[in-house]
Amino acid sequence: MLQLHSFEFSPIQENTYILYNEHKECIIIDPGCYFEEERNEMLDFITAHQLQPKLLLNTHCHLDHVFGNKFIAETYGLKLHIHELEKPLLEYAPVSGLKYEIPFEKYIGDLLYLKEEEKIQLGEDELKVLFTPGHSPGSISFYCQQQSFVISGDVLFQRSIGRTDLPGGDHATLLKSIQEQLFTLPENTIVYSGHGFKTDIGTEKRLNPFFK
Ligand SMILES: [Zn+2]
Ligand SMILES: [Zn+2]
Repeated sequence: MLQLHSFEFSPIQENTYILYNEHKECIIIDPGCYFEEERNEMLDFITAHQLQPKLLLNTHCHLDHVFGNKFIAETYGLKLHIHELEKPLLEYAPVSGLKYEIPFEKYIGDLLYLKEEEKIQLGEDELKVLFTPGHSPGSISFYCQQQSFVISGDVLFQRSIGRTDLPGGDHATLLKSIQEQLFTLPENTIVYSGHGFKTDIGTEKRLNPFFK
């Protein structure tokens, strides 16, 4: 059984997620911790719950989702898992950091590539990789069928969808990803997004203005 904890980090107000099990193993998804106090907040949570970080994952590699990759990887000896199509974005992220005057140090370790439909295991628990491009070329979502939730990155938000005006974004592709990969999940599936509040698939199918 996975427990989920979320933090809201950085001037871009990004949601960082920690999933942890009863064996105190955890997965860190999109560490957006930017300021030192945000990094400390993550460490304090992990220490207080005596967690052992096992996996570092990114839904995609826009700067707000990767600020803390280097710090988490080096602190816990982890390698970064992304979709291969996100590699150029990961490399570009520090450049856009300079452009937006939010500079940061980039992750320089090995990259491990996640594939569509791949299963990620943490103890007895499992996440499935859903390929959900459109907001960015290699955006992926992490679906836990057993506990009916999906971590959707910037693909689907409460009553909104990800922007598609950044390099590699494509509106039609994003709509297709949501229709085919997310709206086909059970309606009670909770959606934990990269920004803002959580929602669920049924509510978004009914009320999301992009699907009227
Ligand atoms: Zn994004
Ligand atoms: Zn974002």
